[in-house]
Amino acid sequence: MTIPFNKPHLTGKEIDYIREAFLAGKLSGDGEFTKRCHKLITEKYGFRKALLTTSCTDALEACAILLNIQPGDEVIAPSYTFVSTVNAFVLRGAKIVFADSDSLTGNIDATKIEALITSRTKAIVPVHYAGVACDMDAIMQIAEKHNLFVVEDAAQAIDSYYKGKPLGSIGHLAAFSFHDTKNIISGEGGMLVVNDERFVKRAEIIREKGTNRSAFFRGEVDKYGWVDVGSSFLPSEIIAAVLLAQLEQTEKIQNKRKQLWEQYFELLKPLEQKGFLKLPHIPEYATNNAHMFYIVLSDLNTRSGLIAHLKSKDIHAVFHYISLHKSVYYEKLHDGRDLPVADELTNTLLRLPMYYDLTKEQIELICKSISEFFEK
Ligand SMILES: *Cc1c(COP(=O)(O)O)cnc(C)c1O
Repeated sequence: MTIPFNKPHLTGKEIDYIREAFLAGKLSGDGEFTKRCHKLITEKYGFRKALLTTSCTDALEACAILLNIQPGDEVIAPSYTFVSTVNAFVLRGAKIVFADSDSLTGNIDATKIEALITSRTKAIVPVHYAGVACDMDAIMQIAEKHNLFVVEDAAQAIDSYYKGKPLGSIGHLAAFSFHDTKNIISGEGGMLVVNDERFVKRAEIIREKGTNRSAFFRGEVDKYGWVDVGSSFLPSEIIAAVLLAQLEQTEKIQNKRKQLWEQYFELLKPLEQKGFLKLPHIPEYATNNAHMFYIVLSDLNTRSGLIAHLKSKDIHAVFHYISLHKSVYYEKLHDGRDLPVADELTNTLLRLPMYYDLTKEQIELICKSISEFFEK
């Protein structure tokens, strides 16, 4: 039986909630289901403002507009990340100054950031890789010292913490994803989080096509119109209905994923001890939300061989992220600096199947197949 890399998990209430949304007679955005998602999330994580979007990519684009990113502004971000982390800023004309990653976590190496700051730097965009926190105290201190904004790309980081603080609550702004490869899903979906009071009002306007429609519906203004630039970043009630069903099961989902993660870790430990691979590292200050289970291999050939070996057993493991400074689009725009850790991860990191409905027996089989590959 095939073990896919990912499989969306139906928690139970999704279909009922979609039906309810139809019966309520409103499927466009910001209805009851969206409000319930906003309430649940802000109460649970203490965000100043949470606004559902149609993707994390959209939320990041909203961040770039909120920060007034202009052509020539510089934004510091890791190279080892998903394209949306930086594409949102490139769309506004920013120049991306890529920072190298830390080999233990795959996160931006906070000690490499300060040397990259110039008079044109506007923002730092740390990505909590695999849902494990970046060193946020160090990053926030640098930002404060140089008067920069911090946008957390928390796409993978729902329900994960840094020194007890929820990820997404630390930077001025944050963006989450509910894409169906993430822990909590709505197919496509995302969320903009605003922690800095100065951005709250404008965030609502940008999300609603540059209009003050949200304030109008709250009765704060007696007519609504075009007051700023913006786009259509709000999801339909169908998406919010699915998301609410998922959010209500957050604890159950996270507990199960953590069990699976621990099982992988325990079963693969002997292979790490023999020097065949490296397992993920969770720093003291971070929690593990079990978004991903990855292993790091010694070189590209070993990784390709292992992928093929697993594939022959119908197990689908995938690698991801080709360093963005070496991407087809950005290579010619990059300033030429070497980013060795990003390149190393590009060639050696492998993600194993990870989803709620994965069974203990399947993980045993996957780990046994990995052992076979090395012992043969
Ligand atoms: C998934 C992901 C995104 C994009 O999320 P979408 O909701 O698909 O737009 C952005 N950044 C990172 C780090 C991601 O993992």
